Amino acid sequence: MSQILRVALDTPLRRLFDYLPQAEASGEPVPLGSRVRVPFGRRRAVGMVMGIGANSEVPAARLKPILEVLDPRPLLDPASLALLEWAAQYYHHPLGEVLASALPKALRLGAAAVASEERWVVTAAGAQAARADEPRRAPRQRTLLALLMQQQAASAAFLDEHARPWREAARALAGRGWIASTEVAIAGSTAAAAAPRPPGPQLLPEQSAAVAAVGESLGSYAAFVLHGITGSGKTEVYLRLTERVLAAGRRALVLVPEIGLTPQLLGRFRERLAAPLAVLHSGLTDQERLGAWRDASSGHARIVVGTRSAVFAPVPDLGLIVIDEEHDPSFKQHEGGFRYSARDLAVVRARHAAVPVVLGSATPSLETLHNVAAQRYRLLRLERRAAQAQPPVLKLVDLRASSLRAGISTPAVLAIERHLSEGGQVLVFLNRRGYAPTLLCTACGWIAPCSECDARLTVHLSAQRLRCHHCGADAPLPARCLQCGFAVKPVGQGTERIAETLTALFPGAPIARLDRDVVRRRGDLEGVMRHMASGDTRILVGTQMVTKGHDFPNVTLVVVLNADQGLFSSDFRAAERLAQTIVQVAGRAGRGTRPGEVLIQTEFPDHPLLVNLLADGYDGFARIALLERQAADWPPFSRLAALRGSARSAAAALAFLTEARGLAPQPPAGVRLLGPVPAAMHKRAGRYHAQLLVESRTRTRLHEFLDGWLPQVERLKSARALRWSLDVDPLELF
Ligand code: ADP
Ligand code: ZN
Ligand code: ZN
Repeated sequence: MSQILRVALDTPLRRLFDYLPQAEASGEPVPLGSRVRVPFGRRRAVGMVMGIGANSEVPAARLKPILEVLDPRPLLDPASLALLEWAAQYYHHPLGEVLASALPKALRLGAAAVASEERWVVTAAGAQAARADEPRRAPRQRTLLALLMQQQAASAAFLDEHARPWREAARALAGRGWIASTEVAIAGSTAAAAAPRPPGPQLLPEQSAAVAAVGESLGSYAAFVLHGITGSGKTEVYLRLTERVLAAGRRALVLVPEIGLTPQLLGRFRERLAAPLAVLHSGLTDQERLGAWRDASSGHARIVVGTRSAVFAPVPDLGLIVIDEEHDPSFKQHEGGFRYSARDLAVVRARHAAVPVVLGSATPSLETLHNVAAQRYRLLRLERRAAQAQPPVLKLVDLRASSLRAGISTPAVLAIERHLSEGGQVLVFLNRRGYAPTLLCTACGWIAPCSECDARLTVHLSAQRLRCHHCGADAPLPARCLQCGFAVKPVGQGTERIAETLTALFPGAPIARLDRDVVRRRGDLEGVMRHMASGDTRILVGTQMVTKGHDFPNVTLVVVLNADQGLFSSDFRAAERLAQTIVQVAGRAGRGTRPGEVLIQTEFPDHPLLVNLLADGYDGFARIALLERQAADWPPFSRLAALRGSARSAAAALAFLTEARGLAPQPPAGVRLLGPVPAAMHKRAGRYHAQLLVESRTRTRLHEFLDGWLPQVERLKSARALRWSLDVDPLELF
C-alpha cells in the first residue's frame, strides 16, 4: 500500500484531506510540516502535511496525487505543529484555518520558505566566447558578458544598478548557453550593526533577583509573572535575560501589544544587544512579513519581537519567551474565526519547548494573578521605580463640585498651568477620538444616528465628517438638522475638541494629539513620539494610545478626563480594564527625577473601585476584584465560551442560537448555558448580533461539552445562512 498524506487545507471543514504522493515522486517521503500544492475541487490549494498514513477511508480510485512538494525540508518543526494542533483543539477551530492564521500570506500562497537571490554566472562556453570578444554584432550582450566575466555570480540587483537594461541581453546569452542563472540562498536581511554596545545600568536588587530566578530556569519550563510597577525597569530584566539566552546559543521570542506603541522597547533591544532581530507585526507589507518570517525561521534572527500572531513565529533553539504588558487585550484575537489568546498560547508553547516564559506587567490580568495564587506561575516583584523616580500621587477631582470648561475642570486647568510653568510636560487622557460623540439639533432634538448600528455618529470637525466608530460609516457633516432644518451643534467631548479647548486655554504651549485619526500612516506615531521626547510638544492629548508603555521622563502631570465610562458597564471585566488604564496612564507621570501628579476627573468620587484603587493601588484593587469574581462565579473562577451569531435580521441571529441551544446535550454537572441574548449593541454594521454563553466550573468539562455540541451546531441549516463563531475564553462580552 502506498503512503497517504494527510493535508491540512485552509477551509472551514474540521478535517484533514488525504492525498497520494506525487505521481513521479522521487521515492523520498514527504516530510511532516512541509507545504504541498494539491488539487482541491476545481482549484489548486496550498496545504500542509500533518500526517502520513498507510491507508485512507477515501476509496482508492478517488484519491488524487499532490501536484508539488513546496518544502523539501519541513517548514514547521514538530514543536510548532504540536502548538497549532493544540490551538485547533483548544479553540475548537479547524486546523487548516489555524495554520493559515499562523503563516504569512506569501507562504500560504506558495512562496519559497528560504530567501534566495537570482545570480548570473558565465558558462565555460560563455567564457570562451567572451575571450573571443563575442557576440560582435550585439553590443549590449557583449558588454553584459564582459561584465559577468569580471563579476563572479552577479546578482539581479547588481545588474539592475550597473547594466540596466540587461534582461533582454541576458535572455539572449542564456539562449546561446553562454550564461546561466541560479537561485542562491541568502542570509537574512536584518543585520545587527557591529557598533560596540553600551553596557546596561547596574541592576537594582529586585531586578537582579528576577534575572536570577528566571535565569535558573533556563533550559526548562517555568512561568513567571514579572509584576513591576510602571517605570520599575522590567525592560531591563528582559534585556539581561535575553543576553543570557543569546550567550547560551539560543534565541528569544518577545511579544508586545503593538509595535508602534512600544518603539522604546524595540529601540532598547536594538541598541543594547548585538544580535540580528526580526520584527513581526501587522503593519508590514506581505513581502516584509515574509522576509521577517524567513529570518526567524532560518535562525538568522537571534531575537524575534512581534505582536499577537508572532506567537506562532518559528524560532529554532528557542530559549525564552517574554510577553510584555501581558494584560493587554490586543493579545486576544477578537475578530474572525480563530479567536486565540497569544498570551495563553505563549505559555503553552513555553511548556512544549521546555523554556521559561515571563509575563510582564504593572497591572497583571486577574487571570494571571489567579494563576499565581494557584502556584502555577511564580511571582517576581519590582516595587520601586528605577532611576530615582518616585511613584506618582493620584488624586480625584469631584466633577460635581467644580466648574467645567468643555470637559476640563478648574482644578485640572490650574494643575496644567502649574506643571507647564515648572517646565513639565502634560498628558491628557480621554478614551474618545473625534470632536464630539454626538451631533444634536437644538430645535427638535434630533441626534445624528448611524443607519447601520445602534449608535450615534461622531463629529469630526476638522475633517468635516460624521463617522461611525463601530462600522466605519462616513458622511459629510451637515450644517443643519436633517429632520427640521434648524441649526445643529456638537455635544460632548472628543480628543479633537479637548485639544482645541487646551489651545485656547494655553496659547503658548504646543499641543499634540495622539489617536487613530492622527496616526494613520507609518511614521505618524514616530513623529508624535519624537516631538514628545524632544520637549517640543508640551501637552499631549490622546486616547488609549497614550496609556501604553512610553517613557517620557519630563511628563509630570497626567489628567484622566473621564473615568466614569468603565464604572457602570455590564461587562464583568470593565472594572479591571478601568483600573489597568488608570494605573497605566498614571504610570506615565513622574518617570524622571521630578515627582508626578495624576488627576482623575469623576462624578463618582465615592465609587468603591476608585476609592480602593487610590488607597491600596492595583494590588488592593485586584484582591477585591478577585473576591467579587469568585462570588459571582466569573472567570478566572469559571470558564466561558461564547457562541455568537450575526444576521441581517434580528430574528435569524436569535433563532440560530436558540436552535443551537436546543441541540445541546444535557449539559454535564457544572456546565450552564446562558442565553441567547441580543448584544448590548444589537445592530452593528447592518447586522444583528446575539450570543449564547457556555459557563463551566472546569476547563475539562467545558471542552467535553463543546466537543459533543459543536459538530451538531455546524450541521445546522441555519448555521449556513449566517455568520457565527465560537470564542473560547472571550475577553469581551456584549
Ligand atoms: P518599565 O518597563 O518597568 O515601565 P523601564 O524598563 O522602561 O520600566 O525603565 C524605566 C526607566 O528606568 C528607563 O529609563 C530605564 O532605562 C531606567 N532603568 C531601568 N533599570 C535601571 C537601573 N537598574 N538603574 C538605572 N536606571 C534604570
Ligand atoms: Zn431638528
Ligand atoms: Zn455604524
